[in-house]
Amino acid sequence: MAWMCSGGTNSELVENLHDAGIITSERVISAMNRVDRAHFSRHNPYEDSPQSIGFGATISAPHMHGYALEHLQEYLQPGMSALDVGSGSGYLVACMAAMVGENGHVVGIDHIPELVQGSQAALEKNYKEWVESGRVKVVTGDGRKGFSEGGPYDCIHVGAASPETPVELLAQLKSPGRLFVPVGRMSQQVIVYDKDDKGDVKEKKVMGVIYVPLTDPEKQLD
Ligand code: SAH
Repeated sequence: MAWMCSGGTNSELVENLHDAGIITSERVISAMNRVDRAHFSRHNPYEDSPQSIGFGATISAPHMHGYALEHLQEYLQPGMSALDVGSGSGYLVACMAAMVGENGHVVGIDHIPELVQGSQAALEKNYKEWVESGRVKVVTGDGRKGFSEGGPYDCIHVGAASPETPVELLAQLKSPGRLFVPVGRMSQQVIVYDKDDKGDVKEKKVMGVIYVPLTDPEKQLD
C-alpha cells in the first residue's frame, strides 16, 4: 500500500507518491520536490504518515497533501491566490506558494499562535524570498471564519474537519473557485465544492478520511 512506503529523501518520498498514482501532475510533483518536508516535520519527514508537531496537531500524511494539491491544482495556477485553513506546520502553504509562483498569494491561518510562529520561522528560514515578497504569509485566527482580508481566493484547503458545510469559507471563494474540506463529525468525507462563474456551488464527495476537527484552542490543547 502506498502509504506504507517510506523513503530516505524528499525526492524518494515524492517518487513513491508518483509511483502509487497519488500525484500525477508535473506541477504538483515539482512543488513537492521544491518543498522539503523535513523543513516542517522534525520526525520521520520522509515517511508517508502524519507526524506530531505539538499542541495537539499533526502534519498530515504526504499522500493527503498530494491528493489535496492534485484536486486544487487547476486553482493553483501562476498568479492565483489560496487560503490554507489549519495550516499547522506550514508545509502545504509552501507547496501552494511554489505552485502559484511569484505573482500569486497564499495565506495560512491557524488558531495556535505557537504553530503559526513555528511555520513562520520555517518559511523564513527556507523560503525567505517568498515571505519577503508577500507571496506567502501565516496568520493566527479562527480559520472557521476564513480570512476575508486576503480574499476572495481561487481555492481554499482545510486541514481539519468541519462539522458541516463551511458556508463562511464558500463565501470567500472567487467565482469560479474550489474548496477542499473534510466534512463530518464521527464519519468524515473530503468534499470538493466547486463554485462556478455564476456563483452556483456544486459538491462532490471525494474520499472517506479521519481528520482532527476544526475546534477551539482550549479544546485542542486539553
Ligand atoms: N495541515 C496542517 C495541519 C493539520 S492538523 C499540516 O499538515 O501541517 C489541523 C490543524 O488545524 C492544526 O494545526 C490545528 O491547530 C488547526 N485548527 C484546528 N481548529 C482550528 C480553527 N478553528 N482555526 C484555525 N486552525 C484550526
